[in-house]
Formats: sequence, C-alpha cells, structure tokens
Amino acid sequence: KKQKNQSKIIELDGNLANKIAAGEVIERPASVVKELLENAIDAKATQITVKIEESGLKSIEIIDNGEGIARAEVALALRRHATSKIKDVADLFRIRTLGFRGEALPSIASVSEMTIDTAAANNGDESGTHLVAKGGNITQNDPAPKRVGTRIKVENLFYNTPARLKYIKSLQAELSHITDIINRLSLAHPEVAFTLVNDGRDMLKTAGTGDLRQAIAGVYGISTAKKMVELSISDLDFEVTGYVSLPELTRANRNYITVLLNGRYIKNFLLNRAIVEGYGSKLMVGRFPLAVIDLKIDPFLADVNVHPTKQEVRISKERELMSLITKAIATALAEEVLIPDALENL
Ligand code: ADP
Ligand code: MG
Repeated sequence: KKQKNQSKIIELDGNLANKIAAGEVIERPASVVKELLENAIDAKATQITVKIEESGLKSIEIIDNGEGIARAEVALALRRHATSKIKDVADLFRIRTLGFRGEALPSIASVSEMTIDTAAANNGDESGTHLVAKGGNITQNDPAPKRVGTRIKVENLFYNTPARLKYIKSLQAELSHITDIINRLSLAHPEVAFTLVNDGRDMLKTAGTGDLRQAIAGVYGISTAKKMVELSISDLDFEVTGYVSLPELTRANRNYITVLLNGRYIKNFLLNRAIVEGYGSKLMVGRFPLAVIDLKIDPFLADVNVHPTKQEVRISKERELMSLITKAIATALAEEVLIPDALENL
C-alpha cells in the first residue's frame, strides 16, 4: 500500500540515467570505438592503437599517447556531464573539440566492464591510475606506475542490457562498422597514426604523416588516391579543401564520400548532394564519386549539439556552403590537377 508522503515522481539514480543515455549513444561496438577514439584525439594523441576481440563484442582496448587524466580526476571522468572541454554556455557555441557532452565514458561504463589505466603528463602527480568499473560501479581505483597516456579497455559490452546484445547480429558486420569509423577518423586526422588489431591480426595501419593525400592512399589504396584531384576554395565564412575522384572513378553508393567539419566526420545529405552536383553531367546515373571534403568554419556557424552522436550538424549559411562546394569541385575537375609525385614513393 502507498505511503501518504511518497512522491510519485522520483529522480533516477545516476547509474540508471547513464544506461538510458547509453541507449542513444552506444548502439554497437563501433560506437564505443568512435567515442574512445574521439577522446584520444581530443587529448592530442599522435599514436592510437585499437585492439579488439570478436569484433569488439568480447573486448575493445584503445591505447593512446595523449595527455592522460590526472590521478584525482579519473573517477570524475566516469560521472555524467563531467567534461574538461567546455565550462559555460558561451563555450557551447564555439566548440573546438570532438567531445563536450561528458556522456561517453559514463554511458559506456554503465553497459560494460571498463578498465582505465592513465597518467597525466607533467602535472605533478606522483602516480598514474588503475581504475576498474563494472556496470558503472567503480570497484577499484588505485595508484599505478606512471606511464603517460591512456589505455581504456571495455569488456563484455551490453552484458547487462540483453535486448541490445541480441540486436547485434554478425561479427563481420560489426567489424566493418569499426573499420569504417577508423577510416573516417584517419581521413579527418591524418596527423594521427591509427592501428587496428582484431583477434591478434593487423587490420589497418595509417602513417600519421599529416598529409591528407597519404591518408587517402592508406584508406582507399594508392592507385585510387592517384585518381583523385585536389581542390581548395574559400570565402569569408568557409574554407573548403580536399580531394575528389575523377569522373571515371565511381562507386555504386555514397559511402565513399566523407565530409569533415572542423575535424569531425559528419553526415549531411545536402552537402553530399552539393558534391555530386559539382560533377555536373560527368557522372553516370546511379554512380557516386569518392571524396574527402575538409571544411573549416567558424565554430559559431555550426551547431553540433543536435544529436548525442554529434554526426548531425546544423550549419548556418548552408546554401552558401553548398554552392561553394559545388564550385570547388567543378573547378578542380576542369583543371584536373592529379595527385602528384608524393605518392610515388609510398
Ligand atoms: P567528453 O569527451 O564529452 O568530455 P567523455 O565522457 O567522453 O566526455 O570523457 C570525459 C572526460 O574524460 C573528458 O572530458 C576528458 O577530460 C577525459 N578523457 C576521456 N578520455 C580521455 C583520454 N583518452 N585521454 C585524456 N583524457 C580523457
Ligand atoms: Mg568524449
């Protein structure tokens, strides 16, 4: 029977709230890889290794050489809405990092067994941290030898959310989602050397030279990269650079188009259309180009706070940007400046 003063509405405890958030952000193993890689990139890592077992379902381990987390702050990083990336509402409108919501670590931790080994570079800490959490509850948080950088291991993903686990079908499909994320991020961040190892086998390795042409060669192969032309154009609001394939090099779908906005891989139907329009009548019906379009814009003109996964971005002056992209591609194809010698020595 009900007590008189018992409120019908209760505030959910933090761990339950995290599981609900995880439902939105953490769809599959590749979502974990994406969030952890973005954290490593935000931490200015230049070398990031991703080791997975059974396409990430058994374990996902990300090792970076970034700034690390201070001993006193590791447990805090597992709390919801705890972030080092924004401080106030003004920051929300000028986001320069990939993360800012403070949701990824608590969400992932709530649906897995997570181990964090981390140490911050020259901040006076005497030791690093070894932290273990199960289903979001911290079971161990001990000092550890100081090795700068961060290693996060996520095991038994979705062990406590059976419906989500059932929804995952084939190891092959999960692996291809993971390689897709790493490919896009390596195009977005040619300055980072990425390695992916699945069940002990090397799946991919990027050079991390900082050169986008070489990153494209790493992802799509040298002969493909050689058939792409460079483009570069800007106006007062936007800077558009990148590479697009010659009209003879096409694919049957849009999956080979990568649009990057301030270092973030985004999905934007209108910008994809602007890219295809740049080809005019040069493409056969039902065929699509390969493209990497790198947009630099004032963060003030881009609202990334649209969806928890941050792949959808609202852009002010989108029409202006579309015609700029179309023009950049049309111009580049007219000139057909092919990727030069740099790739010969790869
Ligand atoms: P967000 O990235 O939105 O800030 P996360 O939950 O992904 O939120 O991470 C919380 C915080 O933990 C980050 O703001 C960052 O300070 C720290 N962090 C997470 N991963 C790393 C990492 N690989 N290297 C250094 N710091 C990290
Ligand atoms: Mg993050």
